[in-house]
Amino acid sequence: MTDPADFSQSPPQETAPLDEFSLIRRYFHHRQGDTVVLGPGDDGALLVPPAGQQLVMTQDTSLVDRHFPADMAPADVGYRCLAVNLSDLAAMGANPLWFLLSLTLPEVDEDWLAQFSRGMFELADQAGISLVGGDITRGPLAVSIQATGSVPPGLALRRDGARAGDQICLGGITGAGLLGLEQWQAGQRHGPAIGHFRRPRPQWELGMALRGQASACIDISDGVLADLSHILQASGGLGACLDEAALPEDPPVLAGCSADKQRALQLQGGDDYLLLFTLPAAQPVPRGCYCLGQVDAQPGIRLRQRNGAVGALTVAGWQHF
Ligand code: ADP
Ligand code: MG
Repeated sequence: MTDPADFSQSPPQETAPLDEFSLIRRYFHHRQGDTVVLGPGDDGALLVPPAGQQLVMTQDTSLVDRHFPADMAPADVGYRCLAVNLSDLAAMGANPLWFLLSLTLPEVDEDWLAQFSRGMFELADQAGISLVGGDITRGPLAVSIQATGSVPPGLALRRDGARAGDQICLGGITGAGLLGLEQWQAGQRHGPAIGHFRRPRPQWELGMALRGQASACIDISDGVLADLSHILQASGGLGACLDEAALPEDPPVLAGCSADKQRALQLQGGDDYLLLFTLPAAQPVPRGCYCLGQVDAQPGIRLRQRNGAVGALTVAGWQHF
């Protein structure tokens, strides 16, 4: 195990600006799990893979003004950039283990770095994932994270296992990611949707609990319809029928939106980072989750409206509403 204080080859005390090594030692050395033999500091990390497990690897890059606003608090940027990677691990049913952080910074701003790493490690500690290395370069602000998790052989949650008749389930109420972004762009800085936008809570515990239960799983980054269609396509060109009556009505997180807007947000919002999964018909829906409809053999996604009428939905078009 590497203790942060063991970081060898300390360069001589520097006056400002901090050199790369001191900067890494100051802001990116953090508690590590016992699978980490060598973390940041050498030419590579040295890790002990859990015996008999398969590894899941994922990577996601977040660019300023594209994936997060330039005026987002650095602690939230750190939290959010790790969250999107943890959400991918969750969608695979993986236990979070290690991550690498590639940071592109326009300048060395120690206050920014201190807050960024605090937000990032807050979530890392919750998930039990260790930062084991990375890279720092100069350029327009960008955060790229590569995360690794483990899963017992054969139990990873994949997109291609859905079957006609399966229930389509959601790990929570969707729509807050997009609503939060819209509110942020309108100048709002507080409220439940803004909270979700700043700090989405990836569902790694749910992902692990769904091992051997869910037939397919994905995390919602593009919206329920778009991500459901990824599962349906990967599973051999299936279709689905969703129940409008199954959508939570007037959830507090979407308060203030019209019924139509709430339905559009719930079905087509993005950046929710909740799990969308299919369950064989006989399986009970896990607590905190709800069933939105069923997979069927007829390609396309349909919506059964409250009045019983069934209409086709397109992934992009909400003119159907
Ligand atoms: P090299 O020149 O051999 O590529 P670097 O100078 O890029 O090494 O990095 C030195 C050490 O610091 C490596 O162990 C690397 O993993 C670690 N490191 C660099 N940037 C970060 C970062 N943002 N977070 C954590 N560790 C980092
Ligand atoms: Mg390097």
